[in-house]
Amino acid sequence: MDPIVAAAIFVFGLAFGSFLNVCVYRLPRDLSVVRPRSACPNCNQWIAFYDNVPVLSWLLLRGRCRHCKARISARYLIVELLTGALFLACYWHFGLTLAMLKYCVFGFLLLGLIFTDAETKLLPNKLTLTGLGLGLVFSLLVPVNDLASQLLPGVVPLPMSSDVSWHLLSLLDALLGAAVGASFIYGAGAIYLRARGVQGMGFGDVKLMAMVGAFLGVKLTIFTLFTASIAGSVFGLSTIFVVWIKRTRRFMARQHATAGAARKRAWQSARVVYRHYEMPFGVFLGSMAMVAFFFGNQFLHWYWGLM
Ligand SMILES: [Zn+2]
Repeated sequence: MDPIVAAAIFVFGLAFGSFLNVCVYRLPRDLSVVRPRSACPNCNQWIAFYDNVPVLSWLLLRGRCRHCKARISARYLIVELLTGALFLACYWHFGLTLAMLKYCVFGFLLLGLIFTDAETKLLPNKLTLTGLGLGLVFSLLVPVNDLASQLLPGVVPLPMSSDVSWHLLSLLDALLGAAVGASFIYGAGAIYLRARGVQGMGFGDVKLMAMVGAFLGVKLTIFTLFTASIAGSVFGLSTIFVVWIKRTRRFMARQHATAGAARKRAWQSARVVYRHYEMPFGVFLGSMAMVAFFFGNQFLHWYWGLM
């Protein structure tokens, strides 16, 4: 790694993170991300360029608006730092290649989706559908090298030159990944709706997984779905558990109930919370898709070694 290139890429990432913050705020509200320039959502004062420097401005102003002193969410700082770290990690992992560019773009869109879903439970089409299109385009520039590329040439003789055929196979891999990702979530959503009577996964998750599939191909898409389900379940169960413990304590303290009775009542109320709780599943899908492109292949090799 060249330290000067690395530093430049990190700063570049911070600037992109700053733009991503604008997207996270404006896209779910159907506002333009280009115009007008940023203003404080509390006092509507324009934000001067020197108060809009990534990371530094937030730290110097201690997370408050210069004019009205309203709090500025720590999300602004976190998204900027994460985007910088993401770009740096892509450079470290892929070197200065087209693959680096592909995963910077993919990770950038994923970060935007993760934070939008966490804040608003929405996954804007401007990120998911743009991502799906970009994933398909990138498959023609960087080989996806998934099932179709690995299995098809051995089964059917391809009449084209190898240069033409890798592009076609790579595009086929991206299309297959998108189809598998979207249909899995669609199917899981339908089952979930039947079982729990609430919408667990929306159409936004379906489009998100189509995008993930187009970038990653079938194998890593399945890896993403599998690990995200585990992460989501662990998170859901621990949430219920925490609610249960807290309410048990509260019932015991306030109503002098016996431990057994308090535990029982708290359990019922935790179940009600669980029934109405809408998990932002896009957060888990997006995070695991990011884990997938850095570590997924290593994990799959290790796993197949065990088999
Ligand atoms: Zn203000």
